[in-house]
Amino acid sequence: MEKKVAMVTGAGRGIGRGIAQRLAQDGFAVVIDDLNEADMQETKRLIEQAGGECIYFQGDVTSEEDMDRVFAGIQEQYGRLDVLVNNAGVAPMRPMDMATPAQMRRTFDINVVSMMICAQRAVPMMRRQGGGKIINAASQSSFRETAVSFEYTTTKWAVRGMTRAMAAYLAKDNINVNAYAPGYVPTPMQDEIAAAAAKARGTTPETIREAQKSGIPLGRYLSVEDIAGLVSYLASPAADNVTGQNIMINGGQVMN
Ligand code: NAD
Repeated sequence: MEKKVAMVTGAGRGIGRGIAQRLAQDGFAVVIDDLNEADMQETKRLIEQAGGECIYFQGDVTSEEDMDRVFAGIQEQYGRLDVLVNNAGVAPMRPMDMATPAQMRRTFDINVVSMMICAQRAVPMMRRQGGGKIINAASQSSFRETAVSFEYTTTKWAVRGMTRAMAAYLAKDNINVNAYAPGYVPTPMQDEIAAAAAKARGTTPETIREAQKSGIPLGRYLSVEDIAGLVSYLASPAADNVTGQNIMINGGQVMN
């Protein structure tokens, strides 16, 4: 049987890398995209070392031209796309009165509009083969508010709405659209957040981490593998009747 193909954006490091590794383990040929080529080479090396298949394209997910090139590359290389994971995202730590409209627009482009740009290029390929799965990176910040990350909260709530709107529209094409909404996952992004929070409060990143952990009912941090497990499920036939859902995975920190 022809190998299924999954594309993961922002897979040079962190959660995206973990998802790419897991989907390769699940048997997908994995295509990754990121801004950082050296990071993608490392993701590709890890996947191939474990016996998986991976190719990468360097590209900015907010650029229509870059994504035209990347999706044309997928078409040329594999002629199909079964799963798109819109994972790339940023988390600027600016409260409301520190953020400029230009910064909000850029964060919105990266965290929200990019998902539309990629989905619009993936959907024609999925329609041709009779269906597919789109999986977006939301956050537990899509379900609550935080004072310190105005742009992040705003854009992640938008991801939640976009996921539902896409799911409603694409159901007739047998395309499922869902989102994973993690709590704290130790990645380079989370390191940057802890460092910024520590600086703002005159304390250490370790103290910030301990405070974060104490607010989690299950009392432990998530791992990248935990998130990859949820995405693996959403990408699998076991989730064929799951669509329009934003699924929190957060040790019970925010309950739905
Ligand atoms: P990370 O910063 O460690 O990795 C993000 C990757 O995306 C980087 O490799 C970066 O180069 C890439 N990227 C950023 N902008 C891009 C662009 N314009 N084009 C292409 N690639 C781009 O972040 P992470 O912690 O792995 O988070 C991944 C996703 O999960 C994000 O959408 C994030 O908001 C979400 N998330 C993370 C956490 C967490 O605790 N780490 C919690 C909830 C949601």
